[in-house]
Amino acid sequence: MKMFQTNRLAGAALAGTVIASLMSITAGIDISAIAASDVIHRDVAVIGGGASGAYGAVRLSQLGKSVVVVERKPVLGGHTETYTDPVSGNSTEMGVVAWYDTPTVKNFFASLNVGLKTTDVQRAGFTTLTTIPVDFRTGELVTSIYEGNVTQGLLNYAAQVAKYPYLEDGFNLTYPVPADLLLPFGEFVKKYDIAGAIQVITVFANGIGRILDQLTLYVFKLVSLQAIVALQEGNYQSAVSGKNHEIYEAAQAKLGADALVNSQVLAVQRNATGSGVAVLVNTPTGVKLIKAKKLLLAIPPKLDNLAGFDLDATERALFGQIQNVGYYAAIINDTGIPDAVELRNFGVDSPWNVPALPGPYFIQAANTAGLFSVKYNSPVQISDDQVKTEIVAALNRVKAAGSVNTTAVTTPHFVEYHSHAPFAFNVPAAAIQDGFYTHLYALQGRKNTFWTGAAFHAQDSSKLWEFTEKLLPAITEGI
Ligand SMILES: Cc1cc2nc3c(=O)[nH]c(=O)nc-3n(C[C@H](O)[C@H](O)[C@H](O)COP(=O)(O)OP(=O)(O)OC[C@H]3O[C@@H](n4cnc5c(N)ncnc54)[C@H](O)[C@@H]3O)c2cc1C
Repeated sequence: MKMFQTNRLAGAALAGTVIASLMSITAGIDISAIAASDVIHRDVAVIGGGASGAYGAVRLSQLGKSVVVVERKPVLGGHTETYTDPVSGNSTEMGVVAWYDTPTVKNFFASLNVGLKTTDVQRAGFTTLTTIPVDFRTGELVTSIYEGNVTQGLLNYAAQVAKYPYLEDGFNLTYPVPADLLLPFGEFVKKYDIAGAIQVITVFANGIGRILDQLTLYVFKLVSLQAIVALQEGNYQSAVSGKNHEIYEAAQAKLGADALVNSQVLAVQRNATGSGVAVLVNTPTGVKLIKAKKLLLAIPPKLDNLAGFDLDATERALFGQIQNVGYYAAIINDTGIPDAVELRNFGVDSPWNVPALPGPYFIQAANTAGLFSVKYNSPVQISDDQVKTEIVAALNRVKAAGSVNTTAVTTPHFVEYHSHAPFAFNVPAAAIQDGFYTHLYALQGRKNTFWTGAAFHAQDSSKLWEFTEKLLPAITEGI
């Protein structure tokens, strides 16, 4: 009889006598009660079917390995979420807007028969809008916005980020970590005369939280040299259909029954030696036991998200240090404001008028009449109810201040909403200097387990596909 450490809450949520009989009196689940037909044997089990996990699973399967992906949401794709208006058929990206023009991206799309096109990321998803600068804290118009030399600011920024080419591939830091990387970005902006580009960088780094307080390292990871070059060359790519989620629909179709969606991990047990891993999963068709040779973890490695995993002291100590912000996306209607308007957040008294957070970055007409797209960022994760309340309150403040014409007295409704939290993973400067990322990377391959995803590299799906691709030789070795 094999016993799992388990997430008791998740276990308790299960219904049915079979499951009840699996619960041990104290610490675990008796897996000997699981029917043979509910045991899934695979080369690799992938946990998390977002950018990294879906990519890893498809590539492993293309390399001839048997895989299964466990994803808790109803579809693969993670932060890539396309809203399609049921009447007009028009779509709005609520997450990933574009990928780089790289062989990895092109090969992945080609392998799944999804077309790509060059896209203008600065204009993606919306038509001609009138931008109204407001401070969402008060709703007041911001009449004077810092204007610097954008080109010079970007050149200065690019010259700095280019000093650290190793950041393009991961957190392959040198020690001692250069002090500049650990400066709060606001200080770095002053030191290297980057202020002219701060608005561009802030828009690009949407979701990072209070950008001026974030360590420069994390801004460089999000607004990388590759991102700046792609912006300059204008060769960002998006799905030719105008619906970026299509790539993950194709991935899910390719994986078929090997994509276990709407599924929760109950327990994970990994062996230190070569004898594989076992994952107990609650799926819509009952509890399954996955027995795999290797495990690819592609979920945010936060302790609360790893309940039921047999973490050891090293993993626990590392993951316990990871912090994140809250990032949320909504499509709302009944706003009572005119179409073709974008309310954009500028902090009236913030340095260089960067948006004061928590708050929406923007409330922006989507490309369907009456619909508005909202991105909301909070330095700490908050509840979805709180986000929605705050979005409505922010819009009402703008209307009450008379900063936008109000066409009708209405209450906005949420047509679609997605939490992108946790987002922008980070650890304190002292931890970075103490070798946090060296220790994190040393986890690769231990206990038959490999790790990918934003916390291991960057909130950038093209880069995560690259990062995951580079793990494949080690994952497939010996299986
Ligand atoms: C609004 C927005 C816009 C963006 N725009 C771009 C862009 O234009 N270009 C770009 O390259 N990147 C963009 N990004 C960043 C990109 O989406 C992320 O960096 C990328 O999705 C991270 O991939 P990941 O695999 O780490 O996580 P995710 O894609 O979030 O995937 C993680 C998956 O794991 C699942 N999961 C989590 N916990 C569990 C669990 N315990 N059990 C089972 N499943 C679990 C989640 O449901 C999710 O599907 C954007 C992100 C956001 C939020």
